[in-house]
Amino acid sequence: MRGAVLYGPGDVRFEERADPKIVEPTDAIIKVTATCVCGSDLWSYRGIQPVAEPTPFGHEYCGVVEEVGRAVTAVKPGQFVIGSFFASDNTCPHCRAGYHSSCQHRELVGGAQAALLRVPLADGTLVPTPGVPPDDLIPSLLTLSDVMGTGWFAADAADVRPGKTVVVVGDGAVGLLAVLSARQMGAERIIAMSRHPTRQTLAREFGATDIVTERGDEGVARIMELTHGVGADAVLECVGTQEAMMQAIRSTRPGGHIGYVGVPHGVALDGQKLFFAHVRLHGGPAPVRRYLPDLIGLVWNRTINPGKVFDLKLPLDRVADGYRAMDERRAIKALLRP
Ligand SMILES: [Zn+2]
Repeated sequence: MRGAVLYGPGDVRFEERADPKIVEPTDAIIKVTATCVCGSDLWSYRGIQPVAEPTPFGHEYCGVVEEVGRAVTAVKPGQFVIGSFFASDNTCPHCRAGYHSSCQHRELVGGAQAALLRVPLADGTLVPTPGVPPDDLIPSLLTLSDVMGTGWFAADAADVRPGKTVVVVGDGAVGLLAVLSARQMGAERIIAMSRHPTRQTLAREFGATDIVTERGDEGVARIMELTHGVGADAVLECVGTQEAMMQAIRSTRPGGHIGYVGVPHGVALDGQKLFFAHVRLHGGPAPVRRYLPDLIGLVWNRTINPGKVFDLKLPLDRVADGYRAMDERRAIKALLRP
């Protein structure tokens, strides 16, 4: 088969790779129906988080089970399934507490930008859809593998509830889907921080009530102005930079919650500032698996349409164009179909 391999900064190649095989009896091999490029793939693509050797890339996937190991009982060949970027057993204490991305047996699922994919711990990781999905649902189902589940976790971690005022920092796919999640959870006011007209439009479509284009001190001042000097009840940090994290902390009211899901790069928090901010911080790699059954239901009955974040759709052999378009911010998110 062929798949995407990252060689170094700006260098993604679509090339021949060995077909994945069942290694452990708990594995499944799936035929990938759709995959995509993640904002977090760009950290490596830009050389900020360098790869030591040519590495198969991609961690978002949905597709049809091709083969299962002899210990797999919950999924079977022919089923359409979605799984998280972390494989998890769904039985250990952390999984039972809902933190599948901290599973005691977790394994990163890598190399999804390919025709076939090996998924470890298939019984715990993969969730089948009610049937074979119609083609127009594929983009939305694919988002559940990472970005939609991550946006949902940001809102859940920030305790978004009906009537609350929410700020979303970041207008990438996760930020936009955090807006959708906050709307779905009943937030009354959703302030999206974005400087890009096309992303602002989508944020409004997903439920944002206000747009703030300022950043830093000006961004904080604008949030304070919009909340009558109080700050937001919940702030969803979907970037992972120092600026974004401080924007989140300074925009939250005392006693408010911050859900942070941007993978931190160079973030260092000042203990004194944190102490006096009086905020609750909760975040980390989203336990996407926890939300899969509910979110599949919401997509299946067409309550939500998170697939709208894909503004670029390419055949998988043009994966390099997908990375380039996202790196240059010409695309919010690129969908790839083998
Ligand atoms: Zn576990």
